[in-house]
Amino acid sequence: MQGNRGGQGAGQGGGRRRKGQYGMGPGGACVCPKCGHKEQHQIGVPCYDRTCPKCNTPLARDK
Ligand SMILES: [Zn+2]
Repeated sequence: MQGNRGGQGAGQGGGRRRKGQYGMGPGGACVCPKCGHKEQHQIGVPCYDRTCPKCNTPLARDK
């Protein structure tokens, strides 16, 4: 049996949805988990690569 053409192809509905969250964006901050010191996050420099100037603790990404 053949002749199954002209249909609408595979029945895959267009259920493509994207969540519009592209990373966290350039606007962020790094915060010291110990003393709460906050710095502006520098693009290309991970927060954990920087240390708090006060207590020398690796900074963490602020939300
Ligand atoms: Zn600190």
